[in-house]
Amino acid sequence: MQNGRFVHNIDFAAATEVLDLIKESDKIVITCHVSPDGDAIGSSLGLWHTLLAMGKKATIVTPDCPPKILQFLPGVKEIVIGTRQTDYARNLLTDADLVFCMDFNDTKRVDKLQPYLDASSARKIVIDHHLEPVIEADVLISRPEISSTSALLYILLWQLKLTRYVRRRAAECIFTGMMTDTGNFSYNSNDSDLYLIVSDLVKKGVDKDRLYTQVLNTGSESRVRICGYAQYKMKMFPDHKAALLTLSAEELKEFEYAKGDTEGLVNIPLSIPEVNYSVFMRQDSPDYVKISTRSKGDFPVNLMCEAYFNGGGHLNAAGGEFHGTLSEAVTRLIEIMPEFDKYNH
Ligand code: 5GP
Ligand code: MN
Repeated sequence: MQNGRFVHNIDFAAATEVLDLIKESDKIVITCHVSPDGDAIGSSLGLWHTLLAMGKKATIVTPDCPPKILQFLPGVKEIVIGTRQTDYARNLLTDADLVFCMDFNDTKRVDKLQPYLDASSARKIVIDHHLEPVIEADVLISRPEISSTSALLYILLWQLKLTRYVRRRAAECIFTGMMTDTGNFSYNSNDSDLYLIVSDLVKKGVDKDRLYTQVLNTGSESRVRICGYAQYKMKMFPDHKAALLTLSAEELKEFEYAKGDTEGLVNIPLSIPEVNYSVFMRQDSPDYVKISTRSKGDFPVNLMCEAYFNGGGHLNAAGGEFHGTLSEAVTRLIEIMPEFDKYNH
């Protein structure tokens, strides 16, 4: 065990237990949250490649498909996807002796895999950075002050003297998670540890510039058009320092929306100095609206999503859902805006 290099340190006893559990286990499963993002997939794959390099057997099981934009990451094709291989995913979770829960704080975040994860007798290690975990685990490494689960994973591996097993492929995945959860190091990124980690990862062969282009600056024509259109018809709520972007089911169809096309859109209104928080509503079906929120400073969009949109997340990036029509979702948001004015200063 080593420490002292990073500002953030992981509790000695917890880190030691992680290593002991890895050594003792033969059937290791790694899982992450539904609709996995770059950090969920990056941290899962980063850990997977590292375990394989250590000579361990492990399998990644995700509730649903990783986004198209991440399909190039090394190892993605080996992932067992719950919505496609339901029985296999269930059996893996049931038979596992160790499960790593990456980037989530509540087993309901694994969606339809929840009953199998909850019922599994495997020991569980949670590595996560979401606030207020409500998850039972043998080892809980929950660090909301660290900007990504991927960075947290690397710090843990370094303390355990395992980073020699982080080779180029693992490094690419870990870098991707760090990059996506900080918007290419543009928020939650005033942490000197991040740059020590990036330095290590680049030394291991990560092509940082290529990963940025591939993950954060590549998209279809429909993506460019649909994001432009949503911004054009953005609604402003100056009294509440809010901006609202919406796309109805009809509009999504008209623009030939594909999953991932609106990734990052919700951040754009925050570039307006008068806007303190931004809400994006996407009507995925006539009576289901997916909600995405972002904020500045200490405006808690997670509280808004928890209280009114059956969701949660981080202080400045949260999400949820609304069962009803798009106009009902908009009405609900407008109703609750005054309640959150107290966080605007
Ligand atoms: P995004 O807006 O990128 O979809 O999600 C941002 C963050 O909000 C995620 O990292 C996650 O923490 C949280 N989040 C998004 N959707 C949901 C949801 O439906 N339920 C919960 N609990 N959190 C969500
Ligand atoms: Mn994350």
